[in-house]
Amino acid sequence: MRIAVFPGSFDPITTGHVDLVKRALPLFDKVIVAIGINSQKKYLFSLEQRLAWIEAVFADEPKVEVDSFQKLTAHYCNKIGARYLLRGLRNASDFDYEKTISQLNNIVGEGLETIFLISQPEYSHISSTIVREIIKGGGDSSSFLPPEVDISSLSFEKYELK
Ligand code: ADP
Repeated sequence: MRIAVFPGSFDPITTGHVDLVKRALPLFDKVIVAIGINSQKKYLFSLEQRLAWIEAVFADEPKVEVDSFQKLTAHYCNKIGARYLLRGLRNASDFDYEKTISQLNNIVGEGLETIFLISQPEYSHISSTIVREIIKGGGDSSSFLPPEVDISSLSFEKYELK
């Protein structure tokens, strides 16, 4: 079985992430969207909220599973029997960063292969970082988010000071 792990923070999941998963589905038997938990990193949304959004987005897609993991991505992949990582490339700085990580993961993950998909032009400007800035600034981020991620239902003040 061809299992791919799509690791990330998904803080929050964007239309760019969703497009990437949908395009990867024909290549794999299963795609596991997995939130990596980094205790050093500050997130805008809780792990539970981020997981719930991803689950809602892919509720009708039987080939997609949602999970979270701690520590090394490569060890997580080995533990669950995934031989592929899925990552998106939006621009040259994504490439520079991802190249080193994929080479390391190939060694640490004992042959773990990273499959890269170049983002579609209409999604290449979208990042969770930009979306978080828009949310914190009180702007409308809905055009960057799947309909299941309804920020307007959340209290903005709750996130403002995090
Ligand atoms: P990380 O914290 O690991 O960067 P992200 O949640 O920001 O996690 O991103 C996870 C993956 O999704 C990365 O491979 C990133 O390149 C990809 N990605 C993010 N935004 C887009 C987009 N708009 N189009 C295609 N891929 C994207």
